[in-house]
Amino acid sequence: DKAKEERGSACVFVPGMDEHLQLRRGLEADLRAAVQAREFELFYQPLFSLARNRVTGFEALLRWRSPRRGMVSPAEFIPLAEQTGLIVPIGEWVLRTACAEAAGWPEEVKVAVNLSPVQFRSRGLVETVREALQESGLAPARLELEITETVLLQETETVMSLLTRLHELGVSIAMDDFGTGYSSLSYLRRFPFDKIKIDQSFIRELQAPPAGAPAEPPGCAAVIVRAIVGLGESLGIQTIAEGVETAAQLAQLRQEGCTEVQGYFISPPRPAAEVGALLARLNPPGSGVAREREEA
Ligand code: C2E
Ligand code: MG
Ligand code: MG
Ligand code: MG
Repeated sequence: DKAKEERGSACVFVPGMDEHLQLRRGLEADLRAAVQAREFELFYQPLFSLARNRVTGFEALLRWRSPRRGMVSPAEFIPLAEQTGLIVPIGEWVLRTACAEAAGWPEEVKVAVNLSPVQFRSRGLVETVREALQESGLAPARLELEITETVLLQETETVMSLLTRLHELGVSIAMDDFGTGYSSLSYLRRFPFDKIKIDQSFIRELQAPPAGAPAEPPGCAAVIVRAIVGLGESLGIQTIAEGVETAAQLAQLRQEGCTEVQGYFISPPRPAAEVGALLARLNPPGSGVAREREEA
């Protein structure tokens, strides 16, 4: 009867199913619909060369504008998208969109796209990248793919052959969040990465001690950053520091010989429509914006 039906549909806690699972189911359903409803967009954050004092590229960072949930952070939905396999169509959309948008930027400006370990286990990754480049007309040298160390924990043979085929397309490969995973050093020997992205957890600890504070031993993070930059230099791999928020951090990274920086100090990720304005501000003719801001 009707009363029973209503009780059934109003029931929030099904026995044996906890609140967490309910929330997950809701998020999964919304995420599935979001792909169709085109609720995703890409924000772009500058990658700033310290040697050239210019923006040399932008990292594409996925944003979900959900009518029901508002702006949802990738940290909240990417793990679920990975568990459900939804990251494969979403990741394909990211690749196509990033390449298409970057094709309209000045020729010397690259775009970096994050790839999930799940995309490495799905079929057609290399084809998807090839098609995104062809459709957009973006030169392969202007696309950088960012992978995390977890990608390399999967079947070595398969991953190495995929990375090699991607490299053969002419794109570059960066190792993201370096220093947070496992046995990072052996991976650097097995695959010719083009760039190491030093994880922001190390940069966060680079803060110079406040004036008048008692002398401290050299920070552990500073020692690690120095080691990674040195490693990059000897292997011929570029190093970029993530999460640079202060002038002091930038100055220290410059001193250590880090080749690029990325972080709120240069600019937070911004909508695609603002890339032109960011380039006008950060790359005016003959400028050294980072240096000026450091000295200010
Ligand atoms: P990530 O690739 O390491 O990206 C850097 C993250 O640090 C971004 O978070 C960025 O907004 C944030 N960030 C940048 N500068 C600063 C700073 O100065 N301070 C601090 N505290 N944070 C800063 P976001 O955009 O929330 O993305 C989080 C993660 O989600 C990314 O980490 C990446 O692993 C993943 N992600 C984002 N977009 C995609 C995508 O299209 N595909 C896949 N597979 N993963 C993505
Ligand atoms: Mg990244
Ligand atoms: Mg990162
Ligand atoms: Mg990170």
